[in-house]
Amino acid sequence: MLIGGLAKCSLVDVPGKVAATLFTIGCPFRCFYCHNPELVIPAQYAKPIPLETIFSFLQSRIGKLEAICISGGEPTLHPDLGSFIERIKDLGYFVKLDTMGIFPDRVEALLATGNIGYVAMDIKAPIDRYDQIINVKNVERSIERSINLLMNSGIDYEFRTTVAKPLLSVADFDGIGTLIRGAKRYFIQNYVKPPKQVDPTVSLASLSQDELLQAQEIMHSYVDCVEIR
Ligand code: SF4
Repeated sequence: MLIGGLAKCSLVDVPGKVAATLFTIGCPFRCFYCHNPELVIPAQYAKPIPLETIFSFLQSRIGKLEAICISGGEPTLHPDLGSFIERIKDLGYFVKLDTMGIFPDRVEALLATGNIGYVAMDIKAPIDRYDQIINVKNVERSIERSINLLMNSGIDYEFRTTVAKPLLSVADFDGIGTLIRGAKRYFIQNYVKPPKQVDPTVSLASLSQDELLQAQEIMHSYVDCVEIR
């Protein structure tokens, strides 16, 4: 595992729990709006935090923190993620995994361990527009498989989409809804210009409140619980 960042306390990363968040280094996608170049662009990688430092922190927070969120980057890029999560579970923590679903075999194996309590999966776009957001081709089958695995896993989960104009617009939500039809919970995350961005040359904008509400209404045709973040 390569951990490039640690947020020591969060009330929002794991639903209903006081959590710390670990950020893994490395991601095969190149989303224009990504605000973590130090986890995504090899030349800008953060210096990894030694695992002993991470586990000594986790040990010291037993009884104070309830959960650990493993985010990225893309955590499932790391083949030893399963054993890493097991060590965290052995300390008594609830574990949440953030993923964008590019490695469905690893998602499947991780779900089967029973060590993960909650998964948040990014839905980047309607499936036929994925490559225009992530700058990588031929991911469609993997993404669809991860969605199906999650929806049939019995594990609590959410899907979520970051929306930045002009990459996505209200017109894209029918396609997103079709992709996750029948899902439990979906969040629309409006773009907020970050201090750093993987592609700083591209000019992006948030959706208006009216556009967000239109997107929410469309998604209600496909998913029971739809919220705006
Ligand atoms: S926003 Fe995109 S590029 Fe950044 S970590 Fe997530 S999937 Fe990777």
